[in-house]
Amino acid sequence: MKILKFGGTSVGDAANIRKTMAVVKGRVSQCPVLVFSAMGDTTDILHRMGEQAAEGRLEASLGTLAALKAYHRAIFEDLMPGNGEEAWAQCEHLFSEMEDVARGLAVLWDFSPAVQDRLLGLGELLCTAMLRHVFLQEGLPVAWMDARTFMVTDARHTQAEPDFDAMAARCKQILLPLVEQGRIPLTQGFIGRSAGGASTTLGRGGSDLTASLLGAALGAEEIEIWTDVDGIMTADPSLVPEARNIPAMSFQEAAELAFFGARVLHPKTLAPAVDRGIPVRVLNTARPEARGTLILARVSPNGGPVKSIAYKEGMTVVTLVSARMFKAQGFLRRLFEVLEHRRIAPDLVATSEVSVALAVSPGPGLSEAVEDLRGLGAVSVRSSQALVAVVGEKLKETPGIVGQVFQDLRDVGVTMVSQGGSDIALSFAVAEEDLSRVVSRLHRRFFEKELDHGQ
Ligand code: ADP
Ligand code: ASP
Ligand code: MG
Repeated sequence: MKILKFGGTSVGDAANIRKTMAVVKGRVSQCPVLVFSAMGDTTDILHRMGEQAAEGRLEASLGTLAALKAYHRAIFEDLMPGNGEEAWAQCEHLFSEMEDVARGLAVLWDFSPAVQDRLLGLGELLCTAMLRHVFLQEGLPVAWMDARTFMVTDARHTQAEPDFDAMAARCKQILLPLVEQGRIPLTQGFIGRSAGGASTTLGRGGSDLTASLLGAALGAEEIEIWTDVDGIMTADPSLVPEARNIPAMSFQEAAELAFFGARVLHPKTLAPAVDRGIPVRVLNTARPEARGTLILARVSPNGGPVKSIAYKEGMTVVTLVSARMFKAQGFLRRLFEVLEHRRIAPDLVATSEVSVALAVSPGPGLSEAVEDLRGLGAVSVRSSQALVAVVGEKLKETPGIVGQVFQDLRDVGVTMVSQGGSDIALSFAVAEEDLSRVVSRLHRRFFEKELDHGQ
């Protein structure tokens, strides 16, 4: 059995949906289970629609909804010309649910996390409602399944945590019999349901996590993540057009990259696969013949010290300087108590004898935490920062790697550096405005120079 997950662009227009269908047809004999995101930018659009309604701008919100409907309708008509009215009725039902939510928001003015989950999750339901008919029309024996029947989560809306044992038991009960009957389960990524019955989501980009959880629950032989690029690349190709495909990487390398912002995989994707040693493959729907990236427990070392470069924008760096920290016991404990109390989980921490620097994503509790930290020393806060990470298993055995990384960055202000946390990643923070040139220069140093030398 294989889990096949298709992201938003893979189902963002009729041409890509046809490509998606061809991929599925080529894998029918491998017992696929299909996981889909919402079409194109639907999730962002639903979010905007909810915000507009909650600001009291109902007309604007309904206009956004009308455009979303027209977008889906055009795709539907292209794929099911003239024979889909009955199928479309299901979609109409979902659009009226969206409208109901918008009208409710316009009265209540409260786009709470629970309502966000309810509204945003409709994008995935809409996509799969359409695809179900399209795939059946093509003769594929798909069985549509509402993921909320098996994806059991806690009630932390917008960031719900799956209950693996409960979801695995339900998957075996609900999905396995379908596969055994030769049917192809077709379901949604991203969405789940709490024990109390509320719709939840696994966080933005969470469809990848749905796929890996399903793979682990059903004992799949491989998890395929189908997206809009040729697998995992040496850098984000939208920032570095020269980025190259990486044929194979280790779970640890891919997990570090995802953690440091490489959007191609949701940061939690790898853990369920790692636990059971299930290979994950990242592939391009538009170029299915391209080799993509195979992620395995162990890969034979090849190439230079750096496998890939990741970045994460929108970070804040908080620096705490305290002379009292010098040889003071309990200082770091007090610092982490503040963070825990304010529910702040820093992405990066660097310490010296008298200072600590933290890179955090801005969010609730940060300004209160900063105020608390002022009780421990002098605090400075830099916003609009970006984290950059160079990742590779070979970093740990490459002497002088720090020097190599910073050699071309002498004119760039680096706000913090951390290497110890993981021996396969070296990460640092720079101002967002420097990000593009920093990543391009690093890419040139570690990947393009190699090419110049004919490797
Ligand atoms: P999907 O909708 O298929 O889940 P995403 O937009 O979430 O797609 O992820 C794919 C995008 O990830 C690519 O278009 C690319 O811009 C971005 N990306 C960031 N870092 C990398 C990387 N190292 N390799 C490949 N893609 C990357
Ligand atoms: N559609 C959701 C999002 O845009 C989930 C996903 O694409 O993985 O975040
Ligand atoms: Mg994604």
